[in-house]
Amino acid sequence: MSTVIESAPSVPNLVGGKWVTSSASESMEVFNPSTGKLIARTPLGDSAEVDNVVKQAASALASWAATPVIERARVMFRYRTLLEKNFEELARLITREHGKTLAESRAEMNRGIEMVEFACGIPSLIMGDILPNIARDVDASCVRHPVGVCVGITPYNFPAMVPMWMYPVAITCGNTFVLKPSEKTPLSAVRLGELLVEAGLPAGVFSIVHGGRECVDALLTHPLVSAISFVGSTKVAEHVYRTGTFNGKRVQSAGGAKNHLIIMPDADMDQTVKALAASAYGCAGQRCMAGSVAVAVGGAGDPLVKQLVDYASSMKIGPSEDDEAIEMGPVIREEHRERVASYLDIAKADGATIALDGRERSGSDSFLIGPSVVDHVRPEMRVSREEVFGPLLSVARVESIEEALALGDQCEYGNGAVIFTQSGYAARQFQQHFSAGMIGINVGVPAPMAWFPFTGWNRSFFGDLHVQGKEGIQFYTRQKVTLARWPKPTDSHVDPVWRSS
Ligand code: NAD
Repeated sequence: MSTVIESAPSVPNLVGGKWVTSSASESMEVFNPSTGKLIARTPLGDSAEVDNVVKQAASALASWAATPVIERARVMFRYRTLLEKNFEELARLITREHGKTLAESRAEMNRGIEMVEFACGIPSLIMGDILPNIARDVDASCVRHPVGVCVGITPYNFPAMVPMWMYPVAITCGNTFVLKPSEKTPLSAVRLGELLVEAGLPAGVFSIVHGGRECVDALLTHPLVSAISFVGSTKVAEHVYRTGTFNGKRVQSAGGAKNHLIIMPDADMDQTVKALAASAYGCAGQRCMAGSVAVAVGGAGDPLVKQLVDYASSMKIGPSEDDEAIEMGPVIREEHRERVASYLDIAKADGATIALDGRERSGSDSFLIGPSVVDHVRPEMRVSREEVFGPLLSVARVESIEEALALGDQCEYGNGAVIFTQSGYAARQFQQHFSAGMIGINVGVPAPMAWFPFTGWNRSFFGDLHVQGKEGIQFYTRQKVTLARWPKPTDSHVDPVWRSS
């Protein structure tokens, strides 16, 4: 959906500390999903624009890397204060461009601020190791250095939090950072960038370049880029990983998901249904940790589907901008609503039962589609295998926990998986053997907080080091080991490390 730029406001790039209008000839429309109205345009930058922004980021590198670590941390302390001060405005901006409820946008901001708080601890986090006397009079040290110009390429579904998974840590580790936000939700990123400038970050340390595929490919191949963090759909994540690593970059690339929620016969059904609905319909299902397939074990299927349909039918849904009581907002675009709706037809044609049809509660102005429940789903069906990324929960029925575990092995993805049970044995079997990187036990959305890595498995992640926690610090730094010997002039000149006995 790219068009020639017209009069609607075009979001600016941040280059070398200055906000500049892109020279791109093409742009993408940004809509408010609650009203369907055009609110901005995202310029689709080309390789020349990327080259300029990366060169500015590279020229800011040496001075920033040499800035004492506590001064780098202090920028984050000031940034945190500004984020708190502008919290409500930012939450409303997220809702305006994304469509999620205000409560969900506030939760997104909180998760992002936690990353900033984590990065405030950088002097302790980045500390190295020293071992004196590893050989006679020889001391060894291992310290962390920045990797260089880092790039973040982010999806539309968390326009503030996902960029904040990356740049607070990258920057405090002494790198410079170029963000390429989603072209569907660029406004939150611009506001976050304005506050970073206000916090006193030197020019060129954080930059924003807007664009689509051409812009991404130019970033992946640019010789001055050292590391790439990507979050988005699996097809693009794999492309980013292959192209980035082929061009010699360090890459962490998170992709899509198909998360299973196992309901054991002993689960507390009232609590479970609420947790399932929050997991599957929160953010209108547009979360990589959203529950997608509920797996009812033993006799849990019938009561589960009945209660789930009752609960989902009574959820207050609608345009999310001005109504605090709304529990589920619209999806991002009209085409996306049609895509989600198409899975109801696909599921029916494949033999599943539509227990609740969200199309009956579609909005006319907004991109709203109601919550759906699709029952009697089998593993080979498309609705069971493919990421729908909308408010549609499939229900599969199996006889045993072993059958439920096998579903994880058949699934190409491996982000989150959840079990609802009162049995420690079942919970432990599940925790040990389900093939996914983030496990919930009676927790519907087991997304780790800033201090733990966001550990997608299988085709939900390409790379070695995930965002968040210690892995984030490792990704944005490279280690240097020094062996130092300061002998007396009269001492032996034989290298004591390489002695033969
Ligand atoms: P997307 O893959 O369409 O876009 C993500 C980014 O890639 C955007 O910045 C976009 O401009 C760029 N892009 C898109 N197509 C490209 C192409 N062909 N070549 C190069 N760059 C391209 O994803 P989306 O629709 O914005 O976001 C939803 C997806 O993100 C879902 O699959 C969701 O599961 C995933 N996601 C994953 C995580 C995670 O941690 N695993 C977190 C959030 C979202």
